[in-house]
Amino acid sequence: MQYKSTRTKNGALVSAAEAIKTGLAPDGGLFMPESIPALSLGELAELIECSYAERATYVFAKFLTDYSIQEIHEDTCAAYSEERFPGGAAPLHDIDGKIVSLELWHGPTCAFKDMALQIMPRLLSRALRKTGESREALILVATSGDTGKAALEGYRDVEQIKIKVFYPVDGVSRVQKLQMQTQEGKNVDVSAIIGNFDDAQTGVKKIFGDAAIAKELDANGVFLSSANSINWGRLAPQIAYYVSAYCDMVKMGKIVLGDKVDVCVPTGNFGNIFAAYIAKEMGLPLEKLICASNKNNVLTDFLASGTYDRNRHFYTTTSPSMDILISSNLERLLYLVCGEEKTAAYMKDLNEKGVYSLADDEIAKIKDVFVGYYASEEDCAAAIRDAYENHGYLCDTHTAVGYHAAKAHLAATDSKRPIILASTASPFKFASSVYRALTDKDASGELEALDELSALTGAEIPAPLANIGTRTVRFDTTMNAADMPASVIDFAKK
Ligand SMILES: *Cc1c(COP(=O)(O)O)cnc(C)c1O
Repeated sequence: MQYKSTRTKNGALVSAAEAIKTGLAPDGGLFMPESIPALSLGELAELIECSYAERATYVFAKFLTDYSIQEIHEDTCAAYSEERFPGGAAPLHDIDGKIVSLELWHGPTCAFKDMALQIMPRLLSRALRKTGESREALILVATSGDTGKAALEGYRDVEQIKIKVFYPVDGVSRVQKLQMQTQEGKNVDVSAIIGNFDDAQTGVKKIFGDAAIAKELDANGVFLSSANSINWGRLAPQIAYYVSAYCDMVKMGKIVLGDKVDVCVPTGNFGNIFAAYIAKEMGLPLEKLICASNKNNVLTDFLASGTYDRNRHFYTTTSPSMDILISSNLERLLYLVCGEEKTAAYMKDLNEKGVYSLADDEIAKIKDVFVGYYASEEDCAAAIRDAYENHGYLCDTHTAVGYHAAKAHLAATDSKRPIILASTASPFKFASSVYRALTDKDASGELEALDELSALTGAEIPAPLANIGTRTVRFDTTMNAADMPASVIDFAKK
């Protein structure tokens, strides 16, 4: 399986290792597999009795054809071990009989990003060897909160790799900030940016596109690579858990093999839901993909109208990992629906005017599969209360946005299909907002909220978040976005 850019017709083909190593295609587009491999019901039947690592190996092998099955399996076993994901990598929890939560947050940083970032460093390490790379890879990350920590944790102390993370100073929760500021490891660096997530992401993209910076880094034996969800190495691992969830739905007796289910995903950069789309295109029996947004509902509007317009107010919400106005992975869907030339033109419009409009037949194709709903801050809090008070299920703010959307979809369509809801973070990662939603009162502080939420609900604080306030802060610099390039070069030379 070879990979190509979303933006150039008949452009160069590269191996999976090369795509994972470089992250972004040379023309600024994103890498996509040249075709989407098939997954039959017969194959699915074989996977039902398999472990998560075995299912993941099977799915990855279809995409990473320049990796041996042994290599992939070694990596999936290490990444999704009981030690890293106590209780299983992606367990299901039936919330209310129709909506089943796919819990993707049992990993080391308590958010779904671990599902990809526990394995991707292993795939990148192998990619460096496979491509004969002697330079050091510098991973640059812009984060709305969860990616940064998950990438730091995945890449810490990995040979031949360094990692630098930028986060918006007022755009992440106190727990997220502390998780990053206290990161351990010899090869890590973290800085706060004055601005929002899009400013951080734009700054990182600019550094990636700057030939002078690349030259200077190269002179120092360093090249840039990305761990953002624009990297195929992030996306591929996410396909596996939809396959796994479907197998578990069959195993639980919620469906029989071949039945269609819907999937609902709390969405920001459109990576997680796009992975579900790939799974569907492979042949997994998924019907509708429900795109759940918070008050930053640019995707809801896009799915309703066909016009993507980022020229709007940016809101800071209680689901900060979804506070995004430029959903980068949407480009991959545009590529599949509209082709390279139109994708390149739409991305140019987005870059220059902040807006583009699809042709009627293009948005119609997207609407055949995707449907968008959004939750206001009140809707989100109400969904947290509903899940907990009526069903005994404690969920975080992002998952609650998804729960609201899933229920709105059921109400709007009287669909009989069960919905797999991607649950993207532990409720303790956003404890103060969850506590407030449940009690209508503020906890004594953002960190105290963890203990207070635990006392209120009897739920246990996950080990990675316990005592977070007592760890040593290693990184507390804040800078203007304009200073990002210099800080990257400094760190590369260290
Ligand atoms: C990253 C993240 C999301 C958004 O996922 P995308 O792949 O960017 O759409 C949702 N919820 C949580 C908790 C996240 O960390």
